[in-house]
Amino acid sequence: MKKYLIVGAGFSGTVLAHQLAKNTDCKIDICDERDHIGGNCHTSRDEQTDIMVHHYGPHIFNTDKKEIWDFVNSLMEFKPYVHRVKAMSNGKVYSLPVNLHTINQLFGQSFTPATAKAFLETLADTSIEDPQNFEEQALRFIGKELYNAFFYGYTKKQWGCEPTELPASILKRIPVRFNYDDNYHNNIYTGIPVDGYTALMEKLIQHENITVTLNKKFDSSIDTSNYDHVFYTGPVDAWFDYKYGRLGYRTVTFEKNYADGDYQGVTQMNYCDADVPYTRIAEPKHFTYWEQHDKTVYFKEFSKETGPSDIPYYPKRLAADKALLLQYRADAENLQKVSFLGRLATYRYMDMHHVIGEALAFAQAFLLAEEQGVKPAVFPNTEVV
Ligand code: UDP
Repeated sequence: MKKYLIVGAGFSGTVLAHQLAKNTDCKIDICDERDHIGGNCHTSRDEQTDIMVHHYGPHIFNTDKKEIWDFVNSLMEFKPYVHRVKAMSNGKVYSLPVNLHTINQLFGQSFTPATAKAFLETLADTSIEDPQNFEEQALRFIGKELYNAFFYGYTKKQWGCEPTELPASILKRIPVRFNYDDNYHNNIYTGIPVDGYTALMEKLIQHENITVTLNKKFDSSIDTSNYDHVFYTGPVDAWFDYKYGRLGYRTVTFEKNYADGDYQGVTQMNYCDADVPYTRIAEPKHFTYWEQHDKTVYFKEFSKETGPSDIPYYPKRLAADKALLLQYRADAENLQKVSFLGRLATYRYMDMHHVIGEALAFAQAFLLAEEQGVKPAVFPNTEVV
């Protein structure tokens, strides 16, 4: 019987384990350095309020792919949930993502979709033909007024650098709409798992051939020769003991507070001004609107550079990081019986549905390679920078 080691019990590791255990006769060991599974999607009930808390920031499940939606729903019931974020800018509350309401609020107008579009075209900097970075993308499509009100300060706090240094792709995550649709996401399927993500991942690894060891930090000097293959979902630079240097990440710290009733009336309020030290406040009781809780718990989020003992959250992917990534990937390609999977191991800004989709496809490709007796892929992605 084949023996596999999976390092990391987040979505990549648990989906992969589930697929391998289901489709082939194998023993799987999963290890994770934390005292819980679930990675940065970890959820559990708050001891004081019983509210389901997202310990590493708000996670909303959304996807356009029916097969991924069906897959997660086959494990747990998802309640319909549409993420409606509010933004505080210069002491006023606005609707996000930028939509007709936001435009009318900011400019004190009553535009229709057509007149708002025409108005924004007068603000857009059309001299920027091919936006090369976050700031150019914003100035080209929404103009400096909306950019300054909602994006410049937040982005500087979130990423710790000038938005001109960041890729345009970060801004493209968020839609701009000329109607009153204030759904933060553009996806067809969106919801919240009734018992949280950690319970969902527990179901993924409930199998007699899967063993999980928590509080176990992996490092690549550990002898893995008794495994047929190692699947590593930790940071790729950590595998190589940071020999070329550290990839840049932002980390998040949380300040937890309690209140009676309802603190802010919404799951997420973004603070877009540079002089407010936190980026956003999340109040998770609004995710589980079907539950009743007298008290509430909310979290202020602070972003900072990731130090050696911090948990990496957001890959920065600046030019120097991408050069470093290529060096690590070249070394990884020379390894035998090791694959790198997931957000940290591939150093990409991925949502849950991306991670799950990639782990499902990777498991299938791996099993096929095994069957054919060829070397399995080291990475799931070929497009790197
Ligand atoms: N962003 C911003 N203002 C906001 C919300 C987002 O400037 O009010 C920018 C910021 O750079 C952020 C990016 O848009 O990192 C993507 O936002 P998203 O809400 O997708 O971030 P996540 O929820 O993954 O932290």
